[in-house]
Formats: sequence, structure tokens, C-alpha cells
Amino acid sequence: MFGKLVRDTWVEWAKKQENPKPHHLIPWEELDKKNKEVDELIGEAVFNASVDVIKETPTECHAHAWCEDCDYSTNFMPMSELFVKLCDEGGYITSDKEGGYLGQCPKCEGNLSFECD
Ligand SMILES: [Zn+2]
Repeated sequence: MFGKLVRDTWVEWAKKQENPKPHHLIPWEELDKKNKEVDELIGEAVFNASVDVIKETPTECHAHAWCEDCDYSTNFMPMSELFVKLCDEGGYITSDKEGGYLGQCPKCEGNLSFECD
């Protein structure tokens, strides 16, 4: 399924080399069966590895926010929902340089604290 992509990438690389070997420049369409088979296998292996990476990526964290200056607090909810909720109410969330979150309380404009599960 991805053999052509593998071959196209290969040919593209080969074209940039000084004095590429002629058989390195053969396009997918003209490639012999054995070489096509190898490229298909490489494509499949990369595809499977990519799927594994995606599967292992944790789903979105749930978070809740509370204000340090007033009684404002939210329930645990997916980060994207919390983001929308705070924007709707006039506050905001932004991520800081350390990968954490900063936010402003929609009620009193104080600093929000966040906790993710
Ligand atoms: Zn507040």
C-alpha cells in the first residue's frame, strides 16, 4: 500500500546524489517485482510503527481549574472543553514555556490554578 511512497522517497533522494546509480532512479512503475515487494514491506512496517505510536499517545487529559483569589472552580473535564468554558465565561487558558498552563479567572481576573488527571 505504501510501497510507492517508499520508492518515490528513495528516487527523490537518489536524484540529489552526485552520480546516482541508474538503478536507483528507476520509478515505482518500472520497478521489478522483488524490489516492489521490499518497498511494500518497508512501507507496511513504517505504517504499523506509526499506528503503534498513535495508539500509545495518551488521550486528552482531564483538568479542572480553580481560582486562587475567589471561590471560582470547575469540574474535571477534557482540557479542550475547559478551554472553551473559560473563554465563554470571559477567562482564558494559555500554556506556559514549561508545558504547564496559565489562566485567568473569569470571575475576578485572578490567577487560575490547574490540575490534570
Ligand atoms: Zn477568581
